[in-house]
Amino acid sequence: MIAKGIDVISLAVGEPDFNTPEHITKAAIDALNRGETHYAPSRGLPELTQAITDKLNKDNNIPVTQKQILCTSGAKDALRITMMACLNPGDEVIILDPAWVSYDPCITIARGKPVHHSLNDNFQVDESIFDKITDKTKMIIVNTPSNPTGTVLGRSSLRVLADACIDHDLYCLSDEIYEKLIYGKEHVSMGSLPDMAERTITINGFSKAYAMTGWRLGYLAAPTEVISYADKVMQHSVGNVCSFVMWGGVAALTGDQTCVESMRKEFEIRKKYVIGRLAGMGLNTAPADGAFYAFIHCGGDDNATANLWLDKAHVAATPGFAFGAPGWIRISYAASMERLEEALNRIEEVL
Ligand code: PMP
Repeated sequence: MIAKGIDVISLAVGEPDFNTPEHITKAAIDALNRGETHYAPSRGLPELTQAITDKLNKDNNIPVTQKQILCTSGAKDALRITMMACLNPGDEVIILDPAWVSYDPCITIARGKPVHHSLNDNFQVDESIFDKITDKTKMIIVNTPSNPTGTVLGRSSLRVLADACIDHDLYCLSDEIYEKLIYGKEHVSMGSLPDMAERTITINGFSKAYAMTGWRLGYLAAPTEVISYADKVMQHSVGNVCSFVMWGGVAALTGDQTCVESMRKEFEIRKKYVIGRLAGMGLNTAPADGAFYAFIHCGGDDNATANLWLDKAHVAATPGFAFGAPGWIRISYAASMERLEEALNRIEEVL
């Protein structure tokens, strides 16, 4: 449609519309100019693994050491590597639906078996998760704040998840990529809960907090036995993360953090606007406490509704079936206010 000259507004993308802050791009350019163009250690530059360790200790209360970090080409690659490191064929991994689209395929690539469990009506976890645990269960994936719902898991959900992992000797993969984009709620890391550090694999990256999606930089922090296998996967696949990109990561973590807060504030303004407009149209949304998504209850056929919005309103959104949530539609509010306003006006017209 865009190629035909139609003005399509895409609210389907999961990336900040901001450019990477200048002090971060400068650090990578400086590294290139210094000749940092060679192979790097498979686990990542020591300067970066140290900065990540300090961040996890300080911001997240996760008691990891530098030896427990592996830098990856984005958080998605951290997910893939973790699955290859942890799973034997047939091992089961519990995914909490609605869930981000890449969990299921990354488990399958590693010849594991995805087991889907629905969050309750409040998008929280309750004791019913225990019904999904079998003697083949190896891991539970936790993602808070969540893509696609934008909701944040409360302390009682995290407690149930921790109990399930501890009682059944499971790994917990905690995907915390949206931790910095949170509105009025606290982010609690699974790895900071009692007795969880030794069984939690924390995944995070730079894409969302620092507007660095194209850089492909992420990491995992894990128990040493997991890291040693993950390192082997890295050594014999990617080799190492792009060296000068890692210098950008060092600048992001050790530099001034006001850029993170100013982008978060802007997303919060957009969120209030979008949720308010949707409510005015009679559209209910999941509690939007984090990330940059509004998860809209459309009631009927989500794919037909998304197609209608695209065909008639020229607004692209993602139907919920992609996340295991038929009857819902996800829109991203990581677009300018002007485009959001225009998109919502158009949606209102076709409702
Ligand atoms: N986890 C979630 C929940 C995501 O939404 C995304 C990106 N859409 C990722 C991980 C991957 O992020 P990255 O760009 O660091 O690979």
